[in-house]
Order: sequence, then structure tokens, then C-alpha cells
Amino acid sequence: MSLYLRNARYVDWRTLKIKPGTIQVEGGADGGIRFVGEVPSELSPEDRLLDCRGKLVTRAFACGHHHAYSALALGMPPPEQVPADFQQKLQMVWWKLDRALDPELVLLSALATALDCARNGVTFVIDHHSSPMAVEGSLDAIAGAFEEVGINVLPCLELSDRDGPAASEKGLAETGNRLAAGKPCLVGLHASFTVGDELLTEAVLLARKYLSGIHVHAAEDAIDQETTFAHYGCRVIERFKESGVLEFPRTILVHGLHLDRGERAIVKGSPAWMAENMESNQNNRVGFFSGEGLSSRVMLGTDGMHSDMLKSAQAAYFAGIDAEKASMAEIYSRLRRVHDYLSENGFAGDGENNLVVLDYPSPTPVSEENFLGHMFYGLGSRHVESVIARGRLIVENRKVLTVDENQVLALTRAGAAKLWRRLAEMA
Ligand SMILES: [Zn+2]
Repeated sequence: MSLYLRNARYVDWRTLKIKPGTIQVEGGADGGIRFVGEVPSELSPEDRLLDCRGKLVTRAFACGHHHAYSALALGMPPPEQVPADFQQKLQMVWWKLDRALDPELVLLSALATALDCARNGVTFVIDHHSSPMAVEGSLDAIAGAFEEVGINVLPCLELSDRDGPAASEKGLAETGNRLAAGKPCLVGLHASFTVGDELLTEAVLLARKYLSGIHVHAAEDAIDQETTFAHYGCRVIERFKESGVLEFPRTILVHGLHLDRGERAIVKGSPAWMAENMESNQNNRVGFFSGEGLSSRVMLGTDGMHSDMLKSAQAAYFAGIDAEKASMAEIYSRLRRVHDYLSENGFAGDGENNLVVLDYPSPTPVSEENFLGHMFYGLGSRHVESVIARGRLIVENRKVLTVDENQVLALTRAGAAKLWRRLAEMA
């Protein structure tokens, strides 16, 4: 089976060189693309042809850190009291919401997120999930929901000690089961300040056993450093280094705002990756990310705020201009480094045959030299017209082909109403 994109203007996602022509897109988990002179005169019944005249085609996007479980919080009534700080926000909103999730709501949250990803041209998601009262089967359920929409996912559970040892034991078992089955998975932890030494040790042992990595929030707010220092007499990254978290090239440290120079040097000297989530940091008023003193292993995520990586990149750039003298080239690299994380670590499904067709009727010329200007000042997810994942068309002319969008949205709206009622009863 092949998909042909005729009359495309292909923007090479690494070099930004623009090449016009007809592209043959291979199917499969790690299929490639190649330019062909002409579309074969006789196509097989499985082959598809998409005319891309006047459109840009480039690599689809991927999200380095997401929380599908928060999808049904969109428009949710706020807590009765305004949270005074980051910890109160966790306690009054997120730690309440994740406890209210049952298996049906976990599934609907994942479907809502996957659908949003499809519409935004995001074909791979690294997810950090929490539903401490509905742990068993949650990882496979999330993966199944993403798969139904045609999106690839690398899931994990954000384990912590806040719901007692039974919940974290269940979470370790759920994670271990998925890893033992050879399915893509990371060992997830919430953050240093909510994870005791025993759980931290067990998580690292699990990651070692299956050559996985740890996906954990790190120094998102000052409270992570303060609590870690008070309990363990060291800083967050020192604790992670000591416990083995940083030994894995699959490890993802998320946020990394409140790191001192020494910690930045430790992260740089390790094979671990960092995920930046600028809008979430702004939303939580916890500070601004800076790549100073870190390696180039920084990628972008959304932290559950939305599923639009173009928006994430633009936010990282505009806030980063002041916070870290960010350049468009550096932020664009961060947007794309998730592809390196996934390929270097052997995760399937993020090959060159993941593409977006952009209907971008720019009033000015688009070239290799000025593509970044268009990327940050012109392009938006509204220009995503068609999306190809694993060589398969999953969105065509803004219509999702894999699931009945209206039917899914009716289910997620009903799910959200149930979740909000439950939260109101918990108050
Ligand atoms: Zn997060």
C-alpha cells in the first residue's frame, strides 16, 4: 500500500530545504518517503492519491510530555477557593481530578486527547498518566484509545506516595506488566517531593530490568527543591543522580526550572533528556525555562495544556526571548528533538512517514531561508489540512477518518459532565 502526495512542496524538517514534487509515502511503523517522478498510471486498490497543489508538506509533530488524563478538565468549574500556590493547585485541582477517574473516564480522556492530536498534526505523544483509583489496565487502555485514532503513544504512570503504598505498588505492577509484554512504556514518577526512597528505588530497578527510563517532573516549582532538601538533604537532581534515574538515555526530566548550575551540569553530563512546557509554567506561575548549562537534549511538551505543538513552540519562543535569549532556530530544534529521542531510543511509529499537509496561503514567499519566520509568526494548527501517521491518512481535508468525531465528542462531553459532578460531590 502506498500513499502518493502529488504536487507537494516538501519542507525537510531537518534542513528546511523545500523540494517540490510527488512523494510516495510508505506504510508501516517506520516507513520512509521518497520522491517519484510521476504517480504510477495504474494504482492498486489500496493505494491513495492526495493532490497537494499549493500546500506545504512536512514531518508531523510529536509531543515530548503530555497528560491525556487532564483532557476532560477543559472548561471545568474552578475550585471554590483560588489556589494560593503550586502545591494548592495540585491538591485542589489535579490530585482531586485524577482520583475521580474511573476506567471509562481514563479511556475517554485518552480518546479526547488523541482526537485533538490528530487535528493538530501531532502523531506521537509521550504521555504521563495518573488515575490512582483506576490503575489496572490503564496503560493498555490509553494505548488502545490512541491507536484507534491512529496516534502513537509512549505511556507511563506518574507514580507517587500520595495515595499510599497500595496505589504505588499497583502502579509498579501495571508498568511492569506492560514492559514485560514488550510494549512501549516508561517508568513514570510524579516528582521528587512526592516520591519516597523506596518507590524511587523500585522504579529505577524496574527501568533497569527492562532497559526503560524514568519519566518524571523535576524542579517544576521551588517546593520540589525545598521538600527534597528537607527530607533527603540534597537537591532534586543530586537525588536523581544518586538513585540511578539519570543513567538511562530514555529518562525524561520534565520542566527543570529551579535547577542550579551544578544540577544543570549533572543533567548535561548524563544521557537523560529534558522536556520544556512553557505555557504550563506560565499558567502555574512557577517560572520560565532556560536551556542555559544544559545539553541539546531538550524537547518540547504541552504538559496537558492542549495538543498543539506549533502553539507550544511559539510560546517557548516568545517567552524564551526574554527568559533565555532564545532564537527561532534553537526553539525549532527543541520542537523537533523529540524525533531524535524516539529514534535513538528505538521507539517505533515516529518515522518519516508521519506527515502534515499544511494549507498555508501565505501573503509572502516561503523559502528555506525564511521558513522559521513563517513557523513562528505565520503557521498555526488552523493550517493543518491533512495528517498522515505511519503512512496512513488519518485526517483528510480537516476530517478525522479513523473515528466518528461527533460520536467520540458526544461521549467525551457526557464523560466530562460525569467527572465534574463527581468532583462537586467530593468538595
Ligand atoms: Zn507534567
